[in-house]
Amino acid sequence: QAKRAERGSLTSYTRRIGEEIRDRVNLLNELRKAFADDHLFLVYQPQIELASGRCVGAEALLRWRAADGRMVPPDRFIALAERSGLITPLGEWVIRHACRQAAEMAELGFDLRMAINVSSIQFRDPSFLDKLRAAVADSGVRPHCIELEITESVAMGEPGRMIELFDQIKAMGLEVAIDDFGTGFSSLSYLQQMHVDRLKIDRSFVSELDRPGKGAEIAELVCGLGHRLGLELVAEGIETEAQAAALRAMGCELGQGWLYAKPMPAAEWLAWLRAHAGARG
Ligand code: C2E
Ligand code: MG
Ligand code: MG
Ligand code: MG
Repeated sequence: QAKRAERGSLTSYTRRIGEEIRDRVNLLNELRKAFADDHLFLVYQPQIELASGRCVGAEALLRWRAADGRMVPPDRFIALAERSGLITPLGEWVIRHACRQAAEMAELGFDLRMAINVSSIQFRDPSFLDKLRAAVADSGVRPHCIELEITESVAMGEPGRMIELFDQIKAMGLEVAIDDFGTGFSSLSYLQQMHVDRLKIDRSFVSELDRPGKGAEIAELVCGLGHRLGLELVAEGIETEAQAAALRAMGCELGQGWLYAKPMPAAEWLAWLRAHAGARG
C-alpha cells in the first residue's frame, strides 16, 4: 500500500517536472519568435540626483509582451535566455537600441546617461568588446554617456577576468556600475582593484529604510564604503519620501524608483522629461 502510494507520488512528481520542462521549452520558443519578430522593447527608468531632483539619466530595462497580450517579467525570461545562449544576440540588441536612444535624446538636447544591464553570458562571447565598440560608434552617442551595469555576484564570480574587462570597458570611455550591491559577497580587495564608477544599493536594503532595523545600517555601510573608494552611490527601488530622505542624509548621490517614475517607453520618457524640466522651471 505504502509502496503504491510512493510510486503514485513519484509519477505525479515526474509528470510535474515534465510539464515544467515543456512549459520552459514553449516559453523559450515564444521568446525566440518574439525576438525574431521584433516584439521586444525597452523601457527607461529615470535616475535622479537626490539633492536636486534633476534627472541625470535612465536605466534601460527589457520588456516582452507575449502574443496573448500578457507581459512576461524579465525575472522569468532573462534566465531562460541566459541558459539557452539567446542572451548573446538579445543582449547585443539591447546595447544597440539603448545606445541609439541615448544618441537621440542627446540630439533633442537632453544630456543624459544611459545605464544598460549586461549578463555574464555576454562576456563569454569573445567578440563582446568589438560588438560593444561598434554599437557605440554606430549610434554616435558619446561613450561616457553609456554605463554598463554588472551585478555584484557576476563581478565577484570571476574577479580576475572582471578587473581586466572593466579596464577594457573604461578604456573605451564607457562607465561601469555594480548592480544589486550588498546581495553578493564582495571581496574588498578585488573591489578596490575594479575600475568602476558607481555602486547600486540593492532595493532590498532601500525598502528597509523606513523601518527600524538592519536594512538602514547596511545601506549606510555600502554608502560609506563606496565613498571611501571614491565611487558614486545609486539607490534602486525608492518608493517613499522617507526612504529618499534617509538616503540623502547618507550622502547617496543618485536614485531611481517608483517615487520618481516607473520605467517608461521612450516616447513617454521624453514627455516626462519635458514636463519634469518645465515643472522645475
Ligand atoms: P535590475 O537591473 O536590478 O533592475 C531593477 C528592477 O527594479 C527593475 O525590474 C525595475 O523595474 C524594478 N524597480 C524599479 N523601481 C522600483 C520600485 O520603486 N519598486 C519596485 N518594487 N521595483 C522597482 P525589472 O524591469 O522587472 O527587471 C528585473 C531584472 O531583470 C533587472 O534587475 C535585471 O537584472 C534584469 N534585466 C532587465 N532588463 C535586462 C536587460 O536588458 N539585460 C539583462 N541582462 N538583464 C535585464
Ligand atoms: Mg540594473
Ligand atoms: Mg539592480
Ligand atoms: Mg535589484
